[in-house]
Amino acid sequence: MTINIARFNVTIGKNKPENIVHSENSCPFCSPETLTDIIESENGMIFLRNKYNMLEDADQFVLVEADRCGIDMPDYSKEHMHKLMRFGLKHWKRLEDSGLYDSVVFFKNHGRFSGGTMRHPHMQIVGFHHIDSTLMIEPESFNGIKITEKDGVLLNASTQPRLGFGEFNIIAQADPPDTFADFIQVTTGFITKRFIKSQESYNIFFYHLGDKLAAKLMPRFPTSPFYVGYDIRLMSTNFQEVCSALRREFE
Ligand SMILES: [Zn+2]
Repeated sequence: MTINIARFNVTIGKNKPENIVHSENSCPFCSPETLTDIIESENGMIFLRNKYNMLEDADQFVLVEADRCGIDMPDYSKEHMHKLMRFGLKHWKRLEDSGLYDSVVFFKNHGRFSGGTMRHPHMQIVGFHHIDSTLMIEPESFNGIKITEKDGVLLNASTQPRLGFGEFNIIAQADPPDTFADFIQVTTGFITKRFIKSQESYNIFFYHLGDKLAAKLMPRFPTSPFYVGYDIRLMSTNFQEVCSALRREFE
């Protein structure tokens, strides 16, 4: 099996600020006047270079989603959520089209089990110079039970999850309608309300799936040893109930 390896610079990693566990630590994104290497700002959103570029042979960027801490996707107006997705997808595409990278990934960490370190709502884009994007996708993990479908956008619950538990896929055309953002907003609200044990931790990962655009939304818990050690993926026994509950959010 061929795998992708990226080198993580431990010296830079050690100096990176954190305020998820230590919430008294100050937030640089609440003081935009102190930020450097800003690429574009719009409607309280800021796209900038990550000051702590911990991955070698890669360029890391941060997309600050809103102008203050303590809120997240479920709290935004629909209009802001639409603007946010358009802004993020635009910069993702721009970096892909730059020709500088083998692979560009676009994702969100939220909460302490997500791999995130900053509380301020943000997403990340990373351009890898030498990473094989064909090894990043498990196409079967996008198969699932249909929750809802509207304007050509499908939301399903994965029956062959990449990691396990309630894993939700949102699949749309490459240039998606705002329904794509609406489905992400409702599903993140569902995850943070319902999976209370995860302490509101979740990830969103964006992918190109053939000629489609896909987002995978995952509640995050401490990672199961069955998965880490043996690649066994756990599915909850109330999977059907979870699907029904999410379906009701759209009625
Ligand atoms: Zn902040």
